[in-house]
Amino acid sequence: MKLIYNFYMIECVSEAIVLGWENLKEQDRRVFLFTRDYGKISAKATSAQKSVSKLAAHLEPFNLITVRLVSKKDVFDAGGFHLTDALLIDSAGGLKSDAGQLKNALQVYDLINRSIPEGVPDGRLWEILEDVRGKKESYRLADALRLLGFDISYAVCELCQGVKPEYFFPKNNFFVCGHCKFASGGKDLISII
Ligand SMILES: [Zn+2]
Repeated sequence: MKLIYNFYMIECVSEAIVLGWENLKEQDRRVFLFTRDYGKISAKATSAQKSVSKLAAHLEPFNLITVRLVSKKDVFDAGGFHLTDALLIDSAGGLKSDAGQLKNALQVYDLINRSIPEGVPDGRLWEILEDVRGKKESYRLADALRLLGFDISYAVCELCQGVKPEYFFPKNNFFVCGHCKFASGGKDLISII
């Protein structure tokens, strides 16, 4: 990671794994990255929804890229980063052509993306993301939850303390049962059965 500070702007170049993205208005996209040195960072990629966008192809989940980010605010002020350039290092072609493992891997990446805070470096998590994208290890959702510190076998519903909860609420990091699900995260819940 290279950091350049000047009077009003911070620029950094880092190796990063793409966790996912969401569409924003005006054909922009918010890209969720896990960088080797600074952990999760979300950054806005201007016009990345356009079919002619050269950036978009590099910003698919599981890609390992070198990314250039600029911020006019404090470094980890959420939403402050703009993604200005990305170079593809490896596209995880083996995983993407394996439909069975790809489904698990998408669930694991989605869970990790939605559960972890921004700006917290984690070498072990980087290794896990590398193992998943390189098919060295095939983690299922329950494995990923355990790695994040949430063991399904001991889980109870956060609201009623019932055993065998069916959902995980990534934003607040707790389990919830089918009866209580509408009182908590609603559509943001991840089904774990
Ligand atoms: Zn409950």
